[in-house]
Amino acid sequence: MSSNNISTKSSSKDLSGLSLIAAHSHITGLGLDDNLQPKESAQGMVGQMKARRAAGVVLKMIQAGKISGRAVLLAGPPSTGKTAIAMGLAQNLGSEVPFTAIAASEIYSLELSKTESLTQAFRKSIGIRIKEETEIIEGEVVEIQIDRSITGGHKQGKLTIKTTDMETIYELGTKMIEGLTKEKVLAGDVISIDKASGKITKLGKSFTRARDYDAMGPETKFVQCPEGELQKRKEVVHTVSLHDIDVINSRQQGFLALFSGDTGEIRSEIRDQINTKVAEWKEEGKAEIVLGVLFIDEVHMLDIESFSFINRALEDEYSPIVIMATNRGISKTRGTNFKSPHGLPIDLLDRSIIVHTSNYNADEIRTILLIRATEEEVELTDDATQLLTKIGQETSLRYASNLISVSQQIALKRRSNIIDLADIKRAYTLFLDSERSVQYLEEFSNQFVDEDGNVNLGNGS
Ligand code: ATP
Repeated sequence: MSSNNISTKSSSKDLSGLSLIAAHSHITGLGLDDNLQPKESAQGMVGQMKARRAAGVVLKMIQAGKISGRAVLLAGPPSTGKTAIAMGLAQNLGSEVPFTAIAASEIYSLELSKTESLTQAFRKSIGIRIKEETEIIEGEVVEIQIDRSITGGHKQGKLTIKTTDMETIYELGTKMIEGLTKEKVLAGDVISIDKASGKITKLGKSFTRARDYDAMGPETKFVQCPEGELQKRKEVVHTVSLHDIDVINSRQQGFLALFSGDTGEIRSEIRDQINTKVAEWKEEGKAEIVLGVLFIDEVHMLDIESFSFINRALEDEYSPIVIMATNRGISKTRGTNFKSPHGLPIDLLDRSIIVHTSNYNADEIRTILLIRATEEEVELTDDATQLLTKIGQETSLRYASNLISVSQQIALKRRSNIIDLADIKRAYTLFLDSERSVQYLEEFSNQFVDEDGNVNLGNGS
């Protein structure tokens, strides 16, 4: 723990915002080779080569620390892997780089203002690598157990070491020297201990006299500690997010809020204090800033105020890279009457790198569906795979992918572990895709309540 007021804890990637994780559990990276070029199918990722190549460039820029203050927009039709690419990128970044994923609609809550939600998301995406120096003893000392085996009338000592506390070591070292009055271990002798096995590889002089051991008693633990020689400085590094530090230091909330997620609004003075402290640590070489990634899915759900917040936040010295995803074309920016590409204000679009995703061909759909089936531990016959691929082409990849688990339940009902053609057909008739759902609504519109709360009975009333 730091000697400063501001305390820390280890952090992990915060993906809690997305209930989409399971849908992407087969993705373990972007599937790139050593030159960051996409392989046709690797790490669960299939096709979408152009977008993955672009994501590879973004990855390189993040790793080189050259992308702060920018935004990336993944734009493309539904189910074309925008979220999958963002997840793959997160995996490739490794656990040190913070990655936060939210769906834009999450910022509308009763507990937090929109700007507070966004501020928290931004600060979760900035890591602070804090370095602390601790003193340790070479070989990771120190608890010595004496093995009282007897050899030729003498007892042999075997030492195992378990603590790094310097005072204990000195105290025990003194006792040891006092206990072994006759000679044997002398001040200044060096004990070097192997960290993994606890084995002592060098001891100045052996100590083997039976009566010395008897005098010590079975519980006695000893170590001989020569001044200076065994002391070494070791650097311990923790990476935490700025948001973690905010929460821990917010008096109203306390660190338990980190577990409940119920952090409430954090006062701006606290954040100012923390920014100042972190700047000091950075200056003193105690901390490094790790700029992470904030992924905002369904970004068209944000409104004009939130967009202008993001625009401003991107200009901050410590801004994470913001990756946004949308499937909207030209549409109104929420909170305005203006239409713009992807529903994003022009000034934000202007500073964004735009990456397009496109629809998959049959082979790609087939491969992705088979990867999903393996992930869900489901087996499909060839006919079933073929039909599912066709459904994927004509409806959407997500719909076809969802049919896998439904069909599995249908197959299990007839006591089969393998999904056959008939199971897929049955699942397809039981659950509508969006197009058939629209047709159904048009056909039976008189049985539904309309936007104004009226039931259209089709009799002109
Ligand atoms: P939407 O616009 O509807 O949010 P999206 O473009 O974000 O869609 P995803 O959610 O990423 O699409 O994709 C739908 C499903 O297909 C997910 O399970 C995803 O993991 C999988 N998927 C999409 N593209 C690929 C790909 N190239 N390789 C492997 N799996 C993929």
